[in-house]
Amino acid sequence: MSASILNADLHCHSVVSDGTLTPEQLAERARARGVDLWALTDHDEIGGQQRAAAAARDWGMHYLSGVEISVTFAGQTVHIVGLGFDPTDVRLQEGLARTRGGRSERAREMADSLAKVGIRGAYEGATRYAGNPDLVSRTHFARFLVETGVCRDTSEVFRRFLTEGKPGFVPHRWASLRDAVGWIRDAGGAAVVAHPARYKFSATEEYALFSEFKAHGGQGVEVVTGSHTAAEAITYAGMAREFGLAASRGSDFHSPDESHTDLGSLPWLPGNLQPIWELLATRIQPAPGRAT
Ligand code: AMP
Ligand code: MN
Ligand code: MN
Ligand code: MN
Repeated sequence: MSASILNADLHCHSVVSDGTLTPEQLAERARARGVDLWALTDHDEIGGQQRAAAAARDWGMHYLSGVEISVTFAGQTVHIVGLGFDPTDVRLQEGLARTRGGRSERAREMADSLAKVGIRGAYEGATRYAGNPDLVSRTHFARFLVETGVCRDTSEVFRRFLTEGKPGFVPHRWASLRDAVGWIRDAGGAAVVAHPARYKFSATEEYALFSEFKAHGGQGVEVVTGSHTAAEAITYAGMAREFGLAASRGSDFHSPDESHTDLGSLPWLPGNLQPIWELLATRIQPAPGRAT
């Protein structure tokens, strides 16, 4: 099978971060939807990697280790996906632990901010949804606000709450771009700019993001993701070529009830791009009995 026509899905979330399915349930769903090469990429946490790799093997899928690291760049949050690293790497583990630190305090401040507009019990409500007590995220607050009828769905939540200037938003300092890319690279993996069209950067800031990412050793960009339109995929295919980056493909699936794009159901990468998994061929855990 040619690497470029693999059904690769290299971005999704389990209950180890802000998804609603277990790593095993995700693996089963990915396989049922035709995924050949899979990566679980929980936010700032690799505690699900062993389970995901074992489940991938059971379902006959190739597997790459994965993570999605929260980074602060030019005053905004940027996500860097890491793929194919060694999950036992101590510096990566310590860096991720530091990045997760502060989430509980942030969650308390978010709840205080929501209380000011009359929404009570948000801290307890959000943590009830968090499968990992170390990883309370805005997604868990969003589920609480939907459950209590404050909003109809999570997109309404992020329009009215939890984003800059809205109740429940608390500015936070995540990892630096240099550190996040360095941890991934030094653990033998490849760093990828996640869903680049989602950031609200000026053209100059975006150019700086890609230049610095590349200078730190970053190797890829998500061209096809659940949060890109077809036009945005074409734009970032151009950026991949301009900056000499490989291309990645991932649904960013979180939940059957919330995610518009399911596992494995993405458009193919545009032509003329190097798939990131070609750079990571030696890091892929092969599926028993399947060709790579
Ligand atoms: P946090 O890491 O706690 O800041 O939470 C970020 C998470 O919130 C993202 O990974 C998404 O899962 C979710 N999120 C952010 N913006 C939106 C949005 N507009 N619609 C749905 N989910 C969102
Ligand atoms: Mn998320
Ligand atoms: Mn993200
Ligand atoms: Mn994600």
